[in-house]
Amino acid sequence: MSLFRAQGLVKRFGGLLAADHVDLAVEQGEIHALIGPNGAGKSTLVNLISGLLPADAGRIVLDGVDLTPLSAQQRVRHGLARCFQIASVFRSDSVRDNLLLAVQAQAGSSFRCLRRRESERALMDAAQALAERLALTEVLDRPAGVLPHGMQKRLDVALALAARPRLLLLDEPMAGMGPEDSRQMIELIESLRGEMAILLIEHDMDAVFQLAGRISVLVNGRVLTSGDAAHVRGHAEVQSVYLGTEVPA
Ligand code: ADP
Ligand code: MG
Repeated sequence: MSLFRAQGLVKRFGGLLAADHVDLAVEQGEIHALIGPNGAGKSTLVNLISGLLPADAGRIVLDGVDLTPLSAQQRVRHGLARCFQIASVFRSDSVRDNLLLAVQAQAGSSFRCLRRRESERALMDAAQALAERLALTEVLDRPAGVLPHGMQKRLDVALALAARPRLLLLDEPMAGMGPEDSRQMIELIESLRGEMAILLIEHDMDAVFQLAGRISVLVNGRVLTSGDAAHVRGHAEVQSVYLGTEVPA
């Protein structure tokens, strides 16, 4: 059984069918890329899955649990976390406070049995571990809003990881990054392989082909095809609809 399944997801914006009966499965531990031209409905799909937008029809199931009626926060508690195309950190709070808040939100109940001192220590340790993993230790005292773009994106990923997701949704994590930040982000995503499943929306096709075990191609709100890199590269319709026009060299 797949870790995650979206079935028949529909989203209309007025007359526009942004998600047209989308079926999508993500397997345990896989990095699954979602590609498609601008306006194909990729962000809409992530918004439907994460619960930011209500679906007009369809359902989503994670690990056998029907998440469809649940709010975005409840979905996070069930193991579904996301990052945004535009990083969503608390800009005036320090990096440390952003991390502590995220760790605390996840750990609330699991640390309740500890004494206050111990639970504070455990929160600090968890925040520190995330900062180390995301190469943010040198900027822990800086307000998140003044960080360079690449670091803000890494902080956004750190906040999602604090929830210890089983499925992580990444909407264009490399958007607007220079080559060095991109390389670091690719390395980070690679290091998460196997730890959790990842649904990765990304325009950088080198990154997609490097990272993704499976790729689904979205066009006009519909999944055109799903398969490995060779399948997608060799798919005639993908080549004409997508690869021919959109893929950067
Ligand atoms: P992608 O992420 O693949 O570029 P989006 O999901 O952002 O595509 O958009 C899919 C389509 O839905 C586009 O035509 C876009 O203009 C439209 N759309 C997205 N969000 C809204 C919204 N909140 N209201 C109206 N139309 C929207
Ligand atoms: Mg988008």
